[in-house]
Amino acid sequence: SARIVLASRPEGRPAPQNFRLEHVAIPAIGDGQVLLKILYLSLDPYMRGRMSAAKSYAAATEIGQPMEGGTVGEVIESRDPAFKPGDIVLSHSGWQSHAVANAAQLRKLDPKAAPLTTALGVLGMPGFTAYAGLLTIGQPKPGETVVVAAASGPVGSAVGQIARIKGARAVGIAGGPEKCAFVRDTFGFDAVIDHRDPDMAAKLAAACPDGIDVYFENVGGHVWDAVFPLLNTFARIPVCGLVAQYNASGTFPGPDRLPGMMRDVLSKSLTIRGFIQREFAAAQAPTFREEMARWIAEGAVKYKEDIVAGLENAPEAFIGLLEGRNFGKLIVKI
Ligand code: NDP
Repeated sequence: SARIVLASRPEGRPAPQNFRLEHVAIPAIGDGQVLLKILYLSLDPYMRGRMSAAKSYAAATEIGQPMEGGTVGEVIESRDPAFKPGDIVLSHSGWQSHAVANAAQLRKLDPKAAPLTTALGVLGMPGFTAYAGLLTIGQPKPGETVVVAAASGPVGSAVGQIARIKGARAVGIAGGPEKCAFVRDTFGFDAVIDHRDPDMAAKLAAACPDGIDVYFENVGGHVWDAVFPLLNTFARIPVCGLVAQYNASGTFPGPDRLPGMMRDVLSKSLTIRGFIQREFAAAQAPTFREEMARWIAEGAVKYKEDIVAGLENAPEAFIGLLEGRNFGKLIVKI
């Protein structure tokens, strides 16, 4: 079987030599375990954090160990009564072609209910992140303005569409004309701004004539700078991700603008609340899967996937994800 391990820790932008493709024997399984042939691997921005030794909410991947990641696999051997060969399951097996998994950690998927890849995207972790973060922390009300960046990706696209389901106005921010057109025309956002436009801040202000009530933070960086002055009193800011700075290491350059921002946090009664989606999983995941499946069936939520063929192409695809070279939920077909 094949797998990709972390060969070394990146400084800044990851490079192909930080990864290594290896071939290893397929391991034997024990009681309560299954052997999986991996069909699809999800690539997600959080994996950049696992490549780094810096302290975070989850342990770093050790050098020489397979990169971690969400996967959809087919059971090819089972020593657990709940699973039989041919079953399709959601697992967290990482960047490899085959994996041993504990049956207790698997969720069976119904291939007839939805395309299997959706378990890694709109019906999976990213879709859930949007749902839980927006509804629990953002709490959009009818008529309010919700802004989200990385709006063509699985989290951002779901945030905007759920905001519209709740009666709010959705303003998306994305990189480049092709992504912007898709966010407006297919995902149905009310307005979309290209963050590469030098006039981005003025255009965002024009697209938000009543200010911003919910800013779902996915990127940080220059987008945050443009958003911050537009926040209304009592605005809510679920802090979900800061992908613009994942490749940065050490301290951040520039003047310290925190005191001015804290003044506005106080005077505008802002709620800035970070979260990791799994905090909400036990309480909300079943309802999410039900509601999201219904929204997709009704056409209220659309999704876009970007599927790359071949495990060996995962490193290059992942490097591109951090720079916006993906267009939709990035998945590797093994
Ligand atoms: P995407 O598929 O949207 O990929 C990331 C996107 O970020 C890129 O395509 C790019 O889009 C955009 N981007 C990259 N650099 C910049 C930049 N400097 N400025 C503006 N935009 C940039 O990713 P996901 O939907 O999977 O994830 C979105 C965010 O949600 C990430 O920050 C991720 O870490 C976070 N997340 C957090 C979770 C949690 O539990 N807190 C769980 C899951 C995801 P473009 O071309 O439009 O610029």
